[in-house]
Amino acid sequence: MLPPQKTPSRADLARQCVKCGLCLPHCPTYALAGMEAESPRGRIALMADLAENPGQTGVFRHLDACLGCRRCETACPADVAYEPLLVQTRALHPPTLTWREKAVLWLLAHKSLLNGALGFYRAVHPLLSPSWRPLPRPAPTAAEPASTARENAVFIGCVADIYEHNARHAFLQLLRATGDDAAFPAAQGCCGQAARHAGQSGRAAALAAANHAAFSGFARVLVLASGCRSALEDSAGVPVVDALAYLAGRAEKLQFRSAEGRHVTLHTPCTASFHGSGKVVHALLSRIPDLHITVLPDTGCCGGAGLHPLSNPARAQALKTPVLAAVPGDADLLLSSNIGCRLHLAGTLPVQHPLEFMAHYLA
Ligand code: SF4
Ligand code: SF4
Repeated sequence: MLPPQKTPSRADLARQCVKCGLCLPHCPTYALAGMEAESPRGRIALMADLAENPGQTGVFRHLDACLGCRRCETACPADVAYEPLLVQTRALHPPTLTWREKAVLWLLAHKSLLNGALGFYRAVHPLLSPSWRPLPRPAPTAAEPASTARENAVFIGCVADIYEHNARHAFLQLLRATGDDAAFPAAQGCCGQAARHAGQSGRAAALAAANHAAFSGFARVLVLASGCRSALEDSAGVPVVDALAYLAGRAEKLQFRSAEGRHVTLHTPCTASFHGSGKVVHALLSRIPDLHITVLPDTGCCGGAGLHPLSNPARAQALKTPVLAAVPGDADLLLSSNIGCRLHLAGTLPVQHPLEFMAHYLA
C-alpha cells in the first residue's frame, strides 16, 4: 500500500483563492459560456460551500463541466491548488457518467483487455464509417525492448501503451544515443488521472498502488505524456521527470541530420504549460538543422482533456476548431507532447509526439 499522505483539506485549499479573477480569461468553459459558474472562481466558491456545508447532494452541473485542464492554476497568482481541490471534491460528489464513460474507465484499468480492444479496433478501422472512428487507427506495435537499466523507468500508461508505442521507442533510441538507458517495467498500468477526475477514488488508488510497486527501486520515472504526470507524482514513490526535460539535460550528446527546410507546427498542451515543459520541446527541436518550427499561439484548451471528447463531443469540437485554424497552411505535421491532445487533434493532418519526430532526424 502507498504511505498515507497529508493533504490540505478542501476548505483550506478553497480559502487560498483571493477571487481576483485573473484565471477567468484562461478557462475554456468560461470562454464558451461567459458565466461565473463556469469559471474557476465560480467552481472554487461552489467547492468551498460543499466543504463547509457537508451533506449536500445533487447534480453539480457546472462542477461536472470542468475539464480539469489546469489552465487556471498556470494563471493563478495565489498558487491555488485547483486540481487537488477538484479531485477531493469529485471523490465525494462524483460527476454523472454515461455508460460509455463508465465502460472506458473500466477498460483503462484493465490493460490487457484495453490492448485487445485497441488491436480489434485497428483491424476493423478501415471498414468503419467516420462516425464510428472516435480515435485514429493505432499503428502496429512490437514487444518493448529488453533493458537491464535500474535508474530510469519509462511510464507506459493505458491507451499510450498502444498509441505511444513508437514515441516510447523513439525516446529510448534518443536516450541511448546520449549513452543512457531506461527500462519499461511491465507491471505498471494507467496513471489513474481519468479515474481521479471522474471521482472514482477507489479505482485511482488501486492503480496508484500498482504503479508504486512497479517503480519501486528505480531512481526516477520518465513520462512522455504531460497529462499523466500529476497522478504519477502522487503515486510513483520516486521522482517523476518529463522525458523531454530529461533528454534536454543530455542534449549536447545528440547529433541530428538536416531537416532540409521542413516546416512543423508545435502545439503546447495545457498540462505541459502547467508543468513548465513547453519551452523545453522547442529548445530540443531547434537542435535539428534546417527545421522551421511554428509554435501555435495559445488559443485555449484543445478540448482533448481526459474523457471530455466522450462526455461533451460538441464542446470538445468547439474547442478544437480554433487550435486547428491556427495551424499554418503549409505545415504537414503537428507535434504535441500529450497523448490526449494528439488523439483529439488527429485527423486533419498527422500529429506526432516530438520525440518520434526527433528520432527520425537522429544522425
Ligand atoms: S481546470 Fe480548466 S476547465 Fe476547469 S476551471 Fe480550471 S481552467 Fe476551467
Ligand atoms: S483561482 Fe487564483 S486566479 Fe482564479 S480567482 Fe482565485 S486567486 Fe484569482
